[in-house]
Amino acid sequence: MHRILILGGGFGGVYAAMRLQSRLRHRPDIDVTLVSRDNYFLFTPMLPQVATSSVDTRHIVQTIRRICPRVKLLQAEIETIDFATRTVTISHAEGHRHQLGYDQLLLAVGGVTNYFGLPGVAEYSLPIKNLSDAIRIRNHALDMLEQAELEDDAALRKQLLTFVVAGAGFAGVETAAELDIFVRRAAKQYRNFTAADIRTVILDAQSRVLPELSEQLAAFTQATLEKRGMEVRMGVRVRSADAEGIDLADGTRIATRMFVWAGGVAPNPVIAALPCTNPRGRIEVDQNLAVPGYAGIWAIGDCAEVASAPGAKPYPPTAQHALREGEHVADNMIALADGKPLKPFAFTMIGQMANLGERSAVAMVGGFKISGFPAWWLWRTYYLSRIPTLERKIRVALDWTLDLLFSRDTVKLSMPSDVRMEDGSHGQRN
Ligand SMILES: Cc1cc2nc3c(=O)[nH]c(=O)nc-3n(C[C@H](O)[C@H](O)[C@H](O)COP(=O)(O)OP(=O)(O)OC[C@H]3O[C@@H](n4cnc5c(N)ncnc54)[C@H](O)[C@@H]3O)c2cc1C
Repeated sequence: MHRILILGGGFGGVYAAMRLQSRLRHRPDIDVTLVSRDNYFLFTPMLPQVATSSVDTRHIVQTIRRICPRVKLLQAEIETIDFATRTVTISHAEGHRHQLGYDQLLLAVGGVTNYFGLPGVAEYSLPIKNLSDAIRIRNHALDMLEQAELEDDAALRKQLLTFVVAGAGFAGVETAAELDIFVRRAAKQYRNFTAADIRTVILDAQSRVLPELSEQLAAFTQATLEKRGMEVRMGVRVRSADAEGIDLADGTRIATRMFVWAGGVAPNPVIAALPCTNPRGRIEVDQNLAVPGYAGIWAIGDCAEVASAPGAKPYPPTAQHALREGEHVADNMIALADGKPLKPFAFTMIGQMANLGERSAVAMVGGFKISGFPAWWLWRTYYLSRIPTLERKIRVALDWTLDLLFSRDTVKLSMPSDVRMEDGSHGQRN
């Protein structure tokens, strides 16, 4: 039995698994196992919409067992990878450990949130990387509104109604735009303040929003957000954060109790200890997506550095690259198992889009710059087509339709960590 082990159930790992299962249908001699922290695949492009109630939490996730029924899924934490013994140590939440052997290993563990070591930022900001982050953002935003409702002190109320997002890349802009829509619409249900009291700020050290897109589209984005009443502060660096606000490098301070951090992606610690990581903490692969010098080891997605040619700039860490690398590496893994030649990976980016909500978006597709409603329609059509399974596509389409007809859900479901115990302490998050 030839054993293929995939680490990571995100865009790279799951698309590799899907390709392997479809190509290995009649190959009982090859076993495919996938290990991931969660038993579901998360469709990250819609995470900001989950954080702000326009799409239901469960509709942007799908169980990996349903998408890849012929792949063995192990829901576990990946602890260590040992190339010398060709084993991976994994552990279940309950604490029991297992060792898995492999003949070929695919590293697709993605990245983690990068706080750049800024004092207080990891402690006092909310990241937007996974599903629980989105749920926490939504709950925290609602909590701010609830607290503002009972607050008589005008300065404190102002602080509670100030929402800050740091990072004006795709994730930051989409999160800030959706968060602003969510809290302004929700404000109609409260008595102690109105939408006009809400202050939403997006800031970044870069000189403009969405630097990956053209200046024209960045200007459109900034103008759209400002027209809605948002504050866009570019060229300003976060220096530190605490429970009461954020200090900026220009000497100013923003008093806030809700600070979302979308400032960047850092290497996954699970691969940091490997001998093949480069000084940036990522794994450089060759044209075939193989790790040079390590037979049968492959890396793709956000944890890898994949370049179109030796010495060329690496492809950006996006889902559209990770999923294509996943499909391509699956073909090469089968080729390696069968002793056939490997094929080099090449991909020309189709385009990039950012959803600004309220039927507006920006997109650069095939050199064309599109903004406003046509870009929004394109964003929705494209991403709806990419969500795995017809059932989830229908559910998301229904959520969007209902969002046009009804106000957004503002029910705040407590997480175990939010639960107030009888003695006044807070419950433990499990
Ligand atoms: C809010 C947001 C919006 C985005 N929007 C877009 C977009 O519109 N378009 C686009 O192209 N890209 C977008 N991206 C980027 C895109 O999500 C990533 O580039 C893509 O997910 C990378 O795929 P990956 O497989 O490398 O990593 P991931 O998708 O991050 O998958 C990594 C997997 O490994 C698992 N894992 C990691 N460490 C461990 C461990 N120690 N043990 C067990 N499991 C582990 C994780 O749980 C996860 O399942 C967005 C990202 C975010 C956060």
